[in-house]
Amino acid sequence: MTNQDLYTKDKENYLPTFNRFPIAFIKGKGSRLWDADGKEYIDLLAGIAVNNVGHCHPKVVKAIQEQAAQLMQISNFFVSPQQVALSELLVKISGLSRVFLTNSGSESVETAIKIARRYGHKNGTGGKVISMHNSFHGRTLATIAAGQEKYQKGFEPIPAGFDQVPFNDLAAVEAAIDSNTAAIMLEPIQGEGGVVPAENNYLEGLRKLCDEKGVLLIFDEIQCGIGRTGKWFAKDHYGVQPDIMILAKGLGGGAPIGAVLCNEKVASAIEFGDHGTTFGGNPLAAAAALATIDVINEEQLCARVTETSEWLKGKFDELIAKHDELESVRGLGLMLGVKMKSEAKPFVVRLLKEGIVANATAVNILRLVPALNISREELTIFLEKLDEILSETTVTV
Ligand SMILES: *Cc1c(COP(=O)(O)O)cnc(C)c1O
Repeated sequence: MTNQDLYTKDKENYLPTFNRFPIAFIKGKGSRLWDADGKEYIDLLAGIAVNNVGHCHPKVVKAIQEQAAQLMQISNFFVSPQQVALSELLVKISGLSRVFLTNSGSESVETAIKIARRYGHKNGTGGKVISMHNSFHGRTLATIAAGQEKYQKGFEPIPAGFDQVPFNDLAAVEAAIDSNTAAIMLEPIQGEGGVVPAENNYLEGLRKLCDEKGVLLIFDEIQCGIGRTGKWFAKDHYGVQPDIMILAKGLGGGAPIGAVLCNEKVASAIEFGDHGTTFGGNPLAAAAALATIDVINEEQLCARVTETSEWLKGKFDELIAKHDELESVRGLGLMLGVKMKSEAKPFVVRLLKEGIVANATAVNILRLVPALNISREELTIFLEKLDEILSETTVTV
């Protein structure tokens, strides 16, 4: 079947929640993708910051194949060696002390909110969670309550117990904390909100404030974690340790898995039966995550991200100097946002025609979240195409 056949069939049966491109991808390797018509692409989106070690990394594929043949699902009534090993590894690289494994980002955020509320009720603070304007925490009911208003419209009643303040504004958080506040939740680098990093003293200030007020600090590192910024977690750039950290996206190298990590203080508020999941942390997903973390370690991808990022930012500076359309580049590691004068979406469509998969977010931000091991050759092809497209646009505008 061709791209168009598949696109038409999809429209017949799938719930119309996604306005998709008429392209069906059928194969991937590293940072390359192939569509149903045989066209090859360079992938700068990586399944939305998911395929951190590239598509179908041989070690991840092997781990999944072997685990699928051995044992895929037990239940969380029992112990599995893969879950044991993954939890130990996550504790080691995060500096936190307890792990709960889930199937997605939203489920992880929901879990974090439940844990924070349990802690809050046991410690007499209550259940309110303060989050940030322009944040994104998922698309389930509680996670839209914590996120942008635009995702809440039409889904009322929205769960109660959430309050929002401007990002990077410490005084606003301080003013919003009351006797009912259990936690402050934020992305150290806002992803969907346009790739906006937290300011250094902001996270430090939040940590201090939370300690003073007995409120928990939650970092949603679903997009910025697992090597994406050149360190295991974005928090490591800031030297600030949260009480709870949320992971998903890049954790499984493409396999669906999420995690919530917390310190012992928070863990001590949790009792048997407080939370559960059927699939969460199953041997198959855990094996994929173990292999992914191994690859990031073995291939020293954090160091590589830092090098690639510096080089890429330099190249962008050249393009920014050359084209009025480009304003600035921001972000850390390989979580970059290029601010444009006009809407970024038409550029994404043009790039797709040229065989480049990129993404637009927050209207005028071209978002790049490629695999951590993308090559400079591949990025150079992208930069040359972008340069060409920008030259055309300047002519036609
Ligand atoms: C993607 C994302 C989520 C939601 O994850 P899903 O797996 O789509 O539910 C939550 N928080 C952040 C920061 C994200 O980037």
